[in-house]
Amino acid sequence: MKLVFATNNAHKLSEVRQILGDSYDVVSLADIGCTTDIPETAPTLEGNALQKARYVKEHFGLDCFADDTGLEVDALNGAPGVFTARYAETEGWGRGHDTTANVDCLLHNLENKSDRKARFRTVIALIYNGEEHLFEGIVEGAITTSRQGTDGFGYDPVFHPDGCDGTFAEMGPDAKNAISHRGRAIRLLAEFLNKKA
Ligand code: IMP
Repeated sequence: MKLVFATNNAHKLSEVRQILGDSYDVVSLADIGCTTDIPETAPTLEGNALQKARYVKEHFGLDCFADDTGLEVDALNGAPGVFTARYAETEGWGRGHDTTANVDCLLHNLENKSDRKARFRTVIALIYNGEEHLFEGIVEGAITTSRQGTDGFGYDPVFHPDGCDGTFAEMGPDAKNAISHRGRAIRLLAEFLNKKA
């Protein structure tokens, strides 16, 4: 069965295809000819994920799922949260989706803070047979005081998951996927879909 994943991120697509197996033919936005930069203007991760999935259902008539991820830092009252992808811009540093500026800004805002607890949270919104479903994956951890490791992307070099020896950027992709926010949310989605297949 064909299911659209509202993304063009090759890394996310292969991760989902690997976990879902052969029961579903997961296709990207490019595969269905969707070239629009779908708006993500909701104030929550749930709202943004639903906004993207609903856009595909409305404009292409296809069942679809979409994800949104945020980094929530306790000492920053849950920021950057829904603004994680453009944190530096919202704080007046850098422009757009600039990862280096995002991480610099986060380290700066946490300077001299002893409480460094944080979590990554991914929400997946699925529209399946006209019904909406939400799946959530969380990984708890702490923000380091400097970058450590070179693997991964985004905030990986400064996120140290609880119970692990190093940051996400110091683990291989398999070790990261086994415990990550996105891996957990995808496995919940897969559990749901595999029961329906
Ligand atoms: P998105 O919703 O997947 O686009 O993620 C929003 C932002 O969160 C991205 O721009 C990344 O900077 C960050 N992010 C998401 N997932 C991860 C991750 O697994 N490691 C590090 N940063 C992440």
